[in-house]
Amino acid sequence: LEKNMRYATTNSCQEFEVYYQPIVDISRPGDPCSGAEALIRWNSEAMGMISPSEFIPLAEYLGLINPIGSFALKEACHRCKYWNDMGHPEYHVNVNLSVVQLLQNDMKEKVREVLEETKMDPANLTLEVTESLAINDMKRMKRILSDIKSLGVKVALDDFGTGYSNMKRIASMPFAIVKLDKTFTEMNENDKMLKVVKNTISMVRDMNLRILVEGVETLESFKEFKALGVDYIQGYYFSKPLPMEKFVSEVKRVNMD
Ligand code: C2E
Ligand code: CA
Ligand code: CA
Repeated sequence: LEKNMRYATTNSCQEFEVYYQPIVDISRPGDPCSGAEALIRWNSEAMGMISPSEFIPLAEYLGLINPIGSFALKEACHRCKYWNDMGHPEYHVNVNLSVVQLLQNDMKEKVREVLEETKMDPANLTLEVTESLAINDMKRMKRILSDIKSLGVKVALDDFGTGYSNMKRIASMPFAIVKLDKTFTEMNENDKMLKVVKNTISMVRDMNLRILVEGVETLESFKEFKALGVDYIQGYYFSKPLPMEKFVSEVKRVNMD
């Protein structure tokens, strides 16, 4: 895996491809698609298709997440700019940033360069970070994230509910959006869990943050979260992650169904 990954990253990341999963804005009439999360795929010539959960931890360990992550960021910004120019000025793109990427001294510069190169509106870019990173050195993380935010981009807290983060910590960080982890979509399994989800959503809303629920797979769960006042939904219920050329047509088809 390591040998092939090193080869793939020196070979201008040609084996990597960015897929896009629609994000639906359920706070607006008609539940329109408001953009997508960029999710990397590795189609290795030597090993076939490898999912990010298999290769990202090793890429982080080897430091190869930096070139791979930069590739994903640039691709996603190019794509978003293209959608924005082709009749969807409101579409935004969410890009995952590993803590390893964030700790590079020049991360802000890298983001600025990509924004300049792609001429993308920074307001349409959201960078997703996981809560685990906020644990060790909160002050430093806050400084890094605020710095990146000053470029006009948004920062989202990913996988919320799976780590150790608390509301006080979230309130002090420059997040615009909280993404509730997919484990919360199993809330209808018991009443206690439903209460936890309801309270979590209302606390996030009280902090004036937008809330997105990921991993929504069924109509039932979609309706439940809509009733709970969630802003955005992402999940197989609406669509799986799609190759870029399929994204716009597939979103249109789903909207018309
Ligand atoms: P994530 O950021 O939490 O992304 C959401 C994952 O949930 C994606 O898995 C997505 O395909 C999957 N998913 C979406 N909707 C549903 C659903 O309704 N049900 C279920 N069961 N799953 C759903 P994926 O694409 O395999 O990515 C896995 C993880 O790899 C991501 O989790 C993210 O942490 C990481 N990743 C992906 N692309 C990148 C990247 O460009 N950079 C970095 N640093 N990490 C990435
Ligand atoms: Ca994510
Ligand atoms: Ca997530």
